[in-house]
Amino acid sequence: MRVTMVGTGYVGLVSGACFSEFGHQVICVDKDASKVEALRRGEIPIYEPGLDKLVAENVAAGRLSFTTDLAASVEGAEAVFIAVGTPSRRGDGHADLTYVYAAAEEIAAALRGYAVVVTKSTVPVGTGAEVERRIRAVRPDFAFDVASNPEFLREGSAIEDFRRPDRVVVGTDSARARAVLRQLYRPLSLLDTPFVFTSRETSELIKYASNAFLATKITFINEMADLCEKVGADVQDVARGIGLDGRIGRKFLHAGPGFGGSCFPKDTLALVRTARDYEAPTRIVEAVVAVNDARKDAMADKVIAAVGGSVAGKTVAVLGVTFKPNTDDMRDAPSLAILPRLIAAGARIRAYDPEGMTAAAALIDGVDWVSDAYATLPGADVLVIITEWNEFRALDLARVRSALNSPIIVDLRNIYRPEEMSEAGFTYFSIGRPPVA
Ligand code: NAD
Repeated sequence: MRVTMVGTGYVGLVSGACFSEFGHQVICVDKDASKVEALRRGEIPIYEPGLDKLVAENVAAGRLSFTTDLAASVEGAEAVFIAVGTPSRRGDGHADLTYVYAAAEEIAAALRGYAVVVTKSTVPVGTGAEVERRIRAVRPDFAFDVASNPEFLREGSAIEDFRRPDRVVVGTDSARARAVLRQLYRPLSLLDTPFVFTSRETSELIKYASNAFLATKITFINEMADLCEKVGADVQDVARGIGLDGRIGRKFLHAGPGFGGSCFPKDTLALVRTARDYEAPTRIVEAVVAVNDARKDAMADKVIAAVGGSVAGKTVAVLGVTFKPNTDDMRDAPSLAILPRLIAAGARIRAYDPEGMTAAAALIDGVDWVSDAYATLPGADVLVIITEWNEFRALDLARVRSALNSPIIVDLRNIYRPEEMSEAGFTYFSIGRPPVA
């Protein structure tokens, strides 16, 4: 089948590459010419494990190409995906649909035969109907369908998530559109992947409900962690003890510095706005948003408390700034709140991240970026672990201890065991577990 992917970011590029691997003929379009030129040179503009190889193989096989020319790419396509960004609108937290509607209108003008226009971007309930209305306004006599097919991949394991999803959700009332999408995802139905065929509105809401539920789960365990710290309990054991209950499940029960990233913060906020607009407020999700915002500041305060109540004039070594490991994505990363608060309190920050430093340097002023984990340490008064990259899980603790000015570690991801840190001579603070010295 012939597929056009409009928007070649984290979702569009991975989805486009994976569809081409399924055997389809895919053209990825982006209006960012530098991105398209880089891809044509064989360079991948984002960090996502395995993506370079997947793209190279499918380009070499002649199934995957890149362009800035949306009109030409749409010609002959059976499915045109919209995978552009839907960030939070400044001021009110609604999803900003400017890019989605701009793409829809460009697609409308370029359609030559029947095609299914598919919103893969995360879009609020009713967006598909509005996309259809806008295309219809440009092409009143044309046969097309607009379907919803939200994406659930996670950055850092995006390719595997796309190839082996827990489910594929398709929202459309059109049998013709359903047939096109079924055919596109045929390799997955052979793997017995569950398909949820539903209405467009339901499909749009499934994506938000899914992200809001996961954000709630994280926030729930984070609040339990705070309580554990007060009562001397261990949140890791609480998470295991509740997670073994099949009704609860073990995933997404890792206490940490609060959720961040390109999806949960903006999607929870957008759901809250939609629900308020329809006078069906989602009070749980509203609380999740507020608790999570406050948590990031509380993490900076935790570091300040760990060094005795003031970081003024002190050096803070920081490991990891991306919102999670195996990505270079800095969107809404907890570090973006934690580091400026420490700097404002007078700290000097020396930081390292395997993939995120270029993006982070553009977003946080006044950080001394260094080229490896150990280079953050000399003379530092505390070491703070913000992102759990694998390379931080097995640090040479004797080397860390001798490099630090004072042997204090604040581990916001619980990647070390308290006993081990105590034996290694550290004063060790983690999340939801008693501190050790
Ligand atoms: P992104 O910012 O990485 O990529 C969007 C791309 O679209 C950019 O390269 C931009 O230049 C391009 N673009 C914008 N308007 C365009 C136009 N008119 N024509 C051509 N290209 C255009 O965004 P992303 O992270 O890939 O997210 C895309 C959507 O997918 C969002 O709605 C997001 O919520 C959703 N989503 C993201 C993830 C994730 O992990 N990143 C997961 C699931 C769903």
